[in-house]
Amino acid sequence: MTTELEALRAENEQLRAQLAAVRTVPELPAEHQGEPIEWRRWEQAPVIQCARADDLNSCPQCDHPGPSMLAFGLAGPGRPLLRYQAHRCPHCQETRVYRRDRDLRGLDLVEIAYWPPQRDYQPDVAGVVESADA
Ligand SMILES: [Zn+2]
Repeated sequence: MTTELEALRAENEQLRAQLAAVRTVPELPAEHQGEPIEWRRWEQAPVIQCARADDLNSCPQCDHPGPSMLAFGLAGPGRPLLRYQAHRCPHCQETRVYRRDRDLRGLDLVEIAYWPPQRDYQPDVAGVVESADA
C-alpha cells in the first residue's frame, strides 16, 4: 500500500516537473465583451528611471529585474484605437491584461484578464548544458 502511494507520488512529481518545463507565453484574449482585439507584438516595456526604479521595473512575483514585456491591443469600429494593453514578466510569465479607459481624470487601466506566474522560475540549466554540447 505504501509503495503504491510512493509510486504515485513519484509519478506526480515527474508530471509536475514536465508541466513546469513547458513554460508558455499566455495567449492574449482575441476579444473582450464581443469587441475583437488586434494585438501588436510583445516588446520590452520602457525602463522607469526614478528612486523607486528597482521596485517598479522588477517582477514582484519572481524578482526578475525587468524590464517587463508590453503589448498593445487595437479595437473599435472604423479606425481601430489603442484600447487594450498587456504586461508580462519575461521570466515567470505572470500576465495582466487591461482595458484603457479614458475619462476626465486621464487614463484608467481596468484589469480584464490575469495569468498567475508559472511554476518554474529557475533558469533552464539542463537546456543550457544541452546547447553547449551541440
Ligand atoms: Zn516574474
